[in-house]
Amino acid sequence: MIRHIGDLDCAHRRVFVRADLNVPLTAESHVADRMRIDAFLPTLRFLLEQKARVIVASHLGRPKGQVNHAYSLLPVAEVLTEILSQELIFPESCVGGGLVKLSHDMEPGSVVLLENLRFVAGEEKNDPQFSENLAALGDVYVNDAFGTLHRAHASTVGMVGHFQEKYAGFLVEKEIKELRMLSHNPKRPFLAIIGGAKVSDKIHLIEKFLDRVDSIILGGGLAYTFLKAQGYAVGSSKLEEEVLHVAERILQKAKRKGVTVLLPCDHLATKKIGVDAQATLINKKAIPDGLIALDIGPHTREEFKACVADANTIFWNGPLGFFEIPAFSEGTRSIAQAVAESDAHSVIGGGDSALALNSLGIADKVSHISTGGGASLAYLEGRTLPGLHALEV
Ligand code: AMP
Repeated sequence: MIRHIGDLDCAHRRVFVRADLNVPLTAESHVADRMRIDAFLPTLRFLLEQKARVIVASHLGRPKGQVNHAYSLLPVAEVLTEILSQELIFPESCVGGGLVKLSHDMEPGSVVLLENLRFVAGEEKNDPQFSENLAALGDVYVNDAFGTLHRAHASTVGMVGHFQEKYAGFLVEKEIKELRMLSHNPKRPFLAIIGGAKVSDKIHLIEKFLDRVDSIILGGGLAYTFLKAQGYAVGSSKLEEEVLHVAERILQKAKRKGVTVLLPCDHLATKKIGVDAQATLINKKAIPDGLIALDIGPHTREEFKACVADANTIFWNGPLGFFEIPAFSEGTRSIAQAVAESDAHSVIGGGDSALALNSLGIADKVSHISTGGGASLAYLEGRTLPGLHALEV
């Protein structure tokens, strides 16, 4: 059983909250996208309304256990100050320096945002001493960092054992509820759209989905290993020979289970990848020698859109083309539009698909956008999330 944060009585108590404030920054170190900050607000506001002493901790980027100001949480502290209209205490570090005293002395209803947890090597190593130091900062532990639940780090696992009282935050509850719905009782027809670069990253997810979905669209770079498995030439497109046999097995399993697998039937391709690359239309499944397929073609777009329109539940992870290059962004854009227009319950699990919806200004038209691509894929694959498991009482 995991305790519900709504039952937490925390007036004047020190609440340590692990949040996921790992936001993208601009070159000038400003917050480029507030989605993860906004997603944390229900938990933060709840704790402040209860007049808790709130200690918030997060990582940002990959500073690899060393202090690196390019990954400071200062820009996040500035945004939080603006949103909450109250001053935040932002110490220089997440350990030492009188933090324990500060956690006792701070005013009820105020917030300390610790500096990036990953400035200390002990965080990612799940180090017992670092875990103990962090645990000394709170009386109650709350985890609202959905995006890091699949990592066994000091702040998500190691420190949790030091607490009698531990809770899942509102964001974690909401994300898990959405994913459970997909695993247990999705409204049919259930369609999964899986794109992105690498088959090896998503092969377990695709295999798992065959037990749950009615149809599955495979697009992006990973589609070409499947086309090759069907016997088509793929030119110089992305191909992972080492998982070709798994792709073959998946296609056979889909047939046995009556799951429709949709693969691109035409493509936009180029000879060389680059920002100015021009698209050549290939009007058939097979790709000629020397060409790299980087997006789905117009026929495929129509076929995929029709499948989206028929679905009552949709899960989407990964772009359907090399969308960073404008000439190859149409596939992802048109599918994003179709998902937004559909009446289906739609769950978006991951960064690039969410980005596509955001850039089109239609993010609010889908039912749920997950704040954690890696964590949602791990959950849907059926893997135990260490951060979630640690909250069990
Ligand atoms: P992922 O992180 O696995 O979702 O992959 C996202 C990346 O896949 C993006 O950076 C895309 O540029 C890339 N991608 C999508 N389609 C293709 C393709 N046809 N060939 C190569 N890379 C692709």
